[in-house]
Amino acid sequence: MKKEVYFIRASREDGPEIIAQKSLAIYRSLGFNERIEAEDFVALKIHFGEKNNTGHIKPQWLTGIIDDVLKKSNRAFLSDSNTLYVGRRANSVDHIRLAWEHGFRPEIVKIPVIIADGLVGREKVELKVEGSRVQSSRISSAFLSSQTMICLTHVTGHVQTGVGAAIKNLGMGCASRAGKLDQHSVVHPRVKAKQCRNCGLCLDYCPAGAIRQIQNKAIIDDEKCIGCGECLVVCRFGAVQMKWDEDSRRLQEKMAEYALSVKNHFGKKICFINFILQVTKDCDCMAKSQAGVVHDVGIVSSLDPVAVDRTSIDLVNLAAGKDAFRQGYNLDWSIQLAHGEKIGLGSQDYKLIEISLG
Ligand code: SF4
Ligand code: SF4
Repeated sequence: MKKEVYFIRASREDGPEIIAQKSLAIYRSLGFNERIEAEDFVALKIHFGEKNNTGHIKPQWLTGIIDDVLKKSNRAFLSDSNTLYVGRRANSVDHIRLAWEHGFRPEIVKIPVIIADGLVGREKVELKVEGSRVQSSRISSAFLSSQTMICLTHVTGHVQTGVGAAIKNLGMGCASRAGKLDQHSVVHPRVKAKQCRNCGLCLDYCPAGAIRQIQNKAIIDDEKCIGCGECLVVCRFGAVQMKWDEDSRRLQEKMAEYALSVKNHFGKKICFINFILQVTKDCDCMAKSQAGVVHDVGIVSSLDPVAVDRTSIDLVNLAAGKDAFRQGYNLDWSIQLAHGEKIGLGSQDYKLIEISLG
């Protein structure tokens, strides 16, 4: 049976109030609020955006959804996990301060920000997964102490997985630092000596101290590398490369299996809302403003993470008239969808239902 995906056209030019109304409309289409019970902890999973990033979901867009959730439970909170890489989201204090700077403050969103894996990213719970890549996942504990999740995702391209959308938000985004390490352990970047200009930038960004300069070239120590991909992103000369197909396939499959473990925890009490606005080449971990690779498309919602991602990708590529994600990084993003389908995370077979404001 085709999975229902609701779609409303939207653009940043609508302004925050209209986007908030459209977000609420797309949320209400799911009838999801009825599933929330008064005692539920409701985790609104989000990415607050790295410092100087402008593509992240804006707090004002969520006010309608949050008001609806608060009618059912007072225990709603906005949440993300700490990152592996060096930045403003690597511990809970810096992370919450950054969320405040991006407007996720009580006077706007009315609910607290809680970082799900504790002060320094060590609070986790292991879940069993019967996957081909993963036997157990390590998920941030606050998510697993919650009864309900609303997974709010900004759709972007991604340097390691081609696309970053709901599956990534769920699988990688809900993982504790140990879980992120586990997923990234399959990525093995290399420096192409001929292309390396010895600028040293990758050394500054490597959180594992895995890069050294030897004979005027950067060299990665495989033993120390945690596969976070920072060096891939920061090298302006394209000198850092991974085994794109092989590493990306393994990473996407692990990510889908992690996502399945989180989805199974929530059962019917999880839904997915993807914002297809300012779709950028790189994800919101990039500490800079990026232009969209396509015009703004809208917002989609579903109870199925695979269907909502497939729809988002199709809508972006339809708007672009080409595979906009492959233009950014030549990666096969379809692996996460196909593997997700294979393991029972969801279905790529969807029925698009377009709505509009009353
Ligand atoms: S950032 Fe790129 S060019 Fe600079 S040292 Fe690292 S690999 Fe070499
Ligand atoms: S070498 Fe690159 S991928 Fe490995 S830990 Fe350092 S920045 Fe991350």
